[in-house]
Amino acid sequence: MEISANTQAIAYLISAILFILALKGLTHPASARRGNFLGMAGMAIAIVATLLGNEVHSYGFIVVGVLVGAVIGTVVAARVQMTAMPQLVAALHSFVGMAAVLVAIGTFLNHDAAGSLDPVMMGELSAGIIIGAITFSGSVVAFAKLQGLVSGAPVKFKGQHALNAAIALATVALGVHFAMTESMTSLVLITLLAFILGFTLIIPIGGADMPVIISMLNSYSGWAAAATGFTLGNLLLIIVGALVGFSGAILSYIMCRAMNRSIINVVFGGFGSESEGAPSAAGVAAEKGVKSASVEDAIYWMEDANKVIIVPGYGMAVAQAQHALKELMELLEEKEVAVKFAIHPVAGRMPGHMNVLLAEADIPYDHVMEMDEINPEFPTADVTLVVGANDVVNPAARTDSSSPIYGMPILDAAKARQVYFLKRSMNPGYSGVDNLLFYQDNTSLIFGDAKDTIEGMVVALKGGGH
Ligand code: NDP
Repeated sequence: MEISANTQAIAYLISAILFILALKGLTHPASARRGNFLGMAGMAIAIVATLLGNEVHSYGFIVVGVLVGAVIGTVVAARVQMTAMPQLVAALHSFVGMAAVLVAIGTFLNHDAAGSLDPVMMGELSAGIIIGAITFSGSVVAFAKLQGLVSGAPVKFKGQHALNAAIALATVALGVHFAMTESMTSLVLITLLAFILGFTLIIPIGGADMPVIISMLNSYSGWAAAATGFTLGNLLLIIVGALVGFSGAILSYIMCRAMNRSIINVVFGGFGSESEGAPSAAGVAAEKGVKSASVEDAIYWMEDANKVIIVPGYGMAVAQAQHALKELMELLEEKEVAVKFAIHPVAGRMPGHMNVLLAEADIPYDHVMEMDEINPEFPTADVTLVVGANDVVNPAARTDSSSPIYGMPILDAAKARQVYFLKRSMNPGYSGVDNLLFYQDNTSLIFGDAKDTIEGMVVALKGGGH
């Protein structure tokens, strides 16, 4: 069965509308599931309409490719830990980049035999190869850093920016040369240089800036897909590429704003390294020691509280403590304690990480508040319960100008009457920076796995508390 170009265009239009509705749905946890379904429906229509189009001459390779890809994709997605999502996303972006490079080169080699290509098409091929190759190697480096295959610390050397600028200029110049002359040598050189550029652009970026970089690479992968769409003359691919390109760019901007950093600063900054020089405020505070507390101490304060604010972080995801937290919330509410959850935009290891986990545990959305909404409430809270969060509540971001996280907006956890930190050790969070909040007079640490500790609290509350 083959469909006409008009039918295909209508199917693509429906898909495009479904993708836009999907993005709209993903803007709120309550509608995110529906958004995902709409996106899946849009993609199913797009795939079927493409397969039935007259461009497809044989199905052999496609069927084998889809089967192999589906098996690998299903196994990987089923096995991946929630905490390893960012690296999976980075790996997937690298595929989009590589696909853009291969489609562009394939198109060029195919057409070469049949005669010259028009200059616009050659320009599109150049752009596709350059964006695709940068996306590929940049994503591979991001994957290796997040997976811990290489150190997450920024790799910096003298003249790095000049070197990057030189490679970028050479790549663009060769890209123009290739578009004008169809020179095979230029094709090989731009491909190699763009691969190198993706690598050299990402190695100086430190671990703490990785979320922004992942979102930027997401944006690049969108542009790479759009370039492929131009090459193949596929309108839907251009639309989808532009949607991904813009949404990735907007997300990068929002995340930069959440960390109080400019995108230029992220790309050239090398944030994530420990700063050297004078002893930091954290170092001084560390000498004061910390207080540790028991589950019973915390329960004593919480069950008589009017308001408890829970700050979940990466450690909640590691411990999978969200279901136990739901139970704790319900028990406290039975005792007329108001319980709220405070979400920092970069808590966890991916945008929306905490929202997804809390939604999985059926914690009502009206209990889950964004940073700007909840910050004014901390001074009226009796207890802040920090569950595996660290960087996002570190006052050093406000007070210690020598700290690498200086300037990042934080949750005002410190302003509650009592602060209880659930963590396993004195290890710092993702940015490697010591937390000044540990040493504050009203702070106590409860050491142990967050899930075990919360379950201990639940048992203590059920048993009538202390
Ligand atoms: P952090 O990484 O700052 O801190 C995590 C805390 O969890 C640590 O104190 C750790 O201490 C504790 N922890 C780990 N496992 C457990 C466990 N099983 N039980 C109890 N505690 C545990 O987390 P935040 O969420 O506060 O901050 C996120 C950081 O990650 C930011 O720096 C952000 O920039 C970065 N980032 C964010 C991304 C995003 O998109 N959201 C992506 C990539 C990075 P201990 O080991 O002692 O238990």
